[in-house]
Amino acid sequence: MVVENFGRNIRFEPANILSPKTSEQIIEYLNEQRPRQVRVIASSHSWSPLIETKSTLIDLEQMNEVNIFEEAGESLVRVGAGCQIKRLIDILNKAGLTLPSLGLITEQTIAGAISTGTHGSGKNSLSHYVKEVSLISYQNQSDTASLSRITQGPDLEAARCSLGCLGIIVEVVLPCIPQYMVTEKWTSCTTLSAALAREKDSPLQQFFLLPHRWSYFCQERTVSKRTKRSLFAPIYQIYWFLFFDVGIHLGILFSARWMKSRKMVRFLYRRLIPLFVPRLGAVTDRSDRILTMEHEMFRHLELELFVIREHLHEAVEWITKVLKFADGEEVHFSDTERSMLRKIGLEQSLTEIKNSYTHHYPICFRRILADETMISMSSGDHKEWYSISLITYVEPRERFFQLVTFLAKYLAESQGARIHWGKWFLFDSEQTDKCYPRLNEFRDVCQKHDGQGVFRNTFVNNVVFSQSDNQFKELDRRS
Ligand SMILES: Cc1cc2nc3c(=O)[nH]c(=O)nc-3n(C[C@H](O)[C@H](O)[C@H](O)COP(=O)(O)OP(=O)(O)OC[C@H]3O[C@@H](n4cnc5c(N)ncnc54)[C@H](O)[C@@H]3O)c2cc1C
Repeated sequence: MVVENFGRNIRFEPANILSPKTSEQIIEYLNEQRPRQVRVIASSHSWSPLIETKSTLIDLEQMNEVNIFEEAGESLVRVGAGCQIKRLIDILNKAGLTLPSLGLITEQTIAGAISTGTHGSGKNSLSHYVKEVSLISYQNQSDTASLSRITQGPDLEAARCSLGCLGIIVEVVLPCIPQYMVTEKWTSCTTLSAALAREKDSPLQQFFLLPHRWSYFCQERTVSKRTKRSLFAPIYQIYWFLFFDVGIHLGILFSARWMKSRKMVRFLYRRLIPLFVPRLGAVTDRSDRILTMEHEMFRHLELELFVIREHLHEAVEWITKVLKFADGEEVHFSDTERSMLRKIGLEQSLTEIKNSYTHHYPICFRRILADETMISMSSGDHKEWYSISLITYVEPRERFFQLVTFLAKYLAESQGARIHWGKWFLFDSEQTDKCYPRLNEFRDVCQKHDGQGVFRNTFVNNVVFSQSDNQFKELDRRS
């Protein structure tokens, strides 16, 4: 059976797909069949080849139990790895609770979301909050698979965001917070500094840079003391669905994908979209209603870059300049920029991207606080990271790939920019090594739980582990 991901950029045929109901079934399979390679698939919403395998694919859809409990005065939830976030937050909501952090959509499973450091805006990524991971692995480099509960130390920091490399996560314990209301208000501004200044009063905000108009719309968001949704919140919800979830996407598909008209795309951003941005004033609603959207309605592909706050202005300047250049505008590249491009072998690409691509989706910015993990995108010593989303709805995607590769490699070299593990991924192990100072520690924890590399695939081996890891290459070849 051929498996395809959400973005339709990953297709593969595993040797077999298992849907276990219990941890015992997984352990029995691993110990009796001794498969050479195993990967877990969740909701397949990642664009990177994380789920790809020619060998055994495990789907934990049936392991989705949810148990809310109290410990030392704290509300916690024990949740089966295969539980989708939307089901989990529905159950939590009935108990007056919710998750401490939410991404834009809720289709992902809990294990899939934490495994790539899924995040929203104004908080840490979901991985950061994980208190306990129940993991099936070959712990202490044993030949026999077994279940362990990881609750602290480097093992927990690795298991919180592990790209499926540590073993099979069967359960996760997360803290829950009381359900809360969020007030949202749309405002526009012309500069990045002005957009960032709004964060003081709206710490959960995300903001968008509109291509071709080159100004910002902020989705200002703050936790509200109100206990009831605003009177016109249901109207806002319908408006949001019709305009944002559907309307704007149809406009983008029509102009960029079907008509392939660069003029229409520019018109959409310069004239049409700004007209529809809500001017209703502030609206208050339940947190999950405000913080999430139906972004999965139309298939697309995304690359998401992460830079620290100190580098954000420079990064935005670079992205704006390159997108204008790609759209055919005259742009001046400084000597410093040109020498950096020469250093990383991208000088030729500059000529190739000129007038090659018209960007057609708002560029979304979100603030993510430092995670206590080893390799999630906002892990490390810096206090705040900003994610920058570049999305395409056009196929074929080669020109988009060429453009974002150019953008990302430059930002990685000049600013240590990182890329979301679950989105379109273009780094090799050398670049990944430079970005993540704790990668060696992560590899050591993986080695401890999976000495044979059974839980790896070619992708993670290429970008996370050393390419000269001949032991894995041999396993990969034989499987
Ligand atoms: C429309 C859309 C919107 C998105 N919005 C956001 C967003 O707002 N913020 C954000 O950060 N990301 C976002 N993402 C990315 C998405 O959250 C991540 O790619 C996430 O990992 C997908 O979860 P999944 O359940 O589909 O996992 P999959 O893509 O199926 O798997 C992801 C990884 O998790 C591993 N895995 C899954 N289950 C287990 C398990 N039980 N044990 C071990 N390993 C496991 C898999 O092997 C794989 O390595 C979005 C993606 C899409 C398509």
